[in-house]
Amino acid sequence: STTTTLLSVHGLEVRYGPALALSGVSFDVPEKGALAVLGANGAGKSTLARTLSGLVPPVAGRVAFAGRDITAASPSAVRRAGLVHLPEGRGVFPGLTVHENLRMALTAAGAERAGAMDRAFTIFPVLAERRRQRAGTLSGGEQQMLGLARALMISPRLVIADELSLGLAPTLVDVVFESLERARAAGAAIIMIEQFAHRALEFADRCLVLQRGTVAWSGPAGAAGDEVLRHYLGAA
Ligand code: ATP
Repeated sequence: STTTTLLSVHGLEVRYGPALALSGVSFDVPEKGALAVLGANGAGKSTLARTLSGLVPPVAGRVAFAGRDITAASPSAVRRAGLVHLPEGRGVFPGLTVHENLRMALTAAGAERAGAMDRAFTIFPVLAERRRQRAGTLSGGEQQMLGLARALMISPRLVIADELSLGLAPTLVDVVFESLERARAAGAAIIMIEQFAHRALEFADRCLVLQRGTVAWSGPAGAAGDEVLRHYLGAA
């Protein structure tokens, strides 16, 4: 096969105290692949994202990324390896300006990439207009955009987008999807956790459905029809 595995998850188990949040979760994401992770409220989607990014330690299982075992790695080590987790509505420093937020993202990555700032402002013209404004004074949608711009500046190998379009106006939802398309075109793989199941399935090439912490269904995104959505999400 010509595809190379970028992320490999095997037998993942996560507990919050006595409560089992994930159990026996296994899947792969190839280089440049796009995986939609769907599931009802409480199914474990955010827990999966937090575990992969080093925020929650699993009690069992293994996570390998780009040929390295990152099962017990810290969030900063995971990020340095090229895995970026975008939780909804976070990841910006409200007291710093838009420009400072973007510059910090480059510095934190140890990157001095000529053109990265210009590229960010081309993808997000609104941020260029507001470059001297404090991030905390931006609208929720604009802060979301800034978080995304920060993440994309360091050319991640894998972006986990956790409900990025939650609560956004339709035009901003489009911006989010376009930005992720651009990240993908630039060579990144994407794991998309998304309330808009149909849009996520159009975007992704594979789909994983979680139900009460286990993998209930997985397959090609195109095969996750209305029946699957109705059965596991109670919607279609
Ligand atoms: P949603 O779509 O509502 O965000 P989700 O699929 O992302 O749901 P998780 O947030 O991962 O689901 O939650 C999975 C399970 O773990 C739920 O039963 C939830 O109540 C529980 N849980 C999540 N975070 C914690 C925590 N910090 N402490 C204890 N239990 C938690």
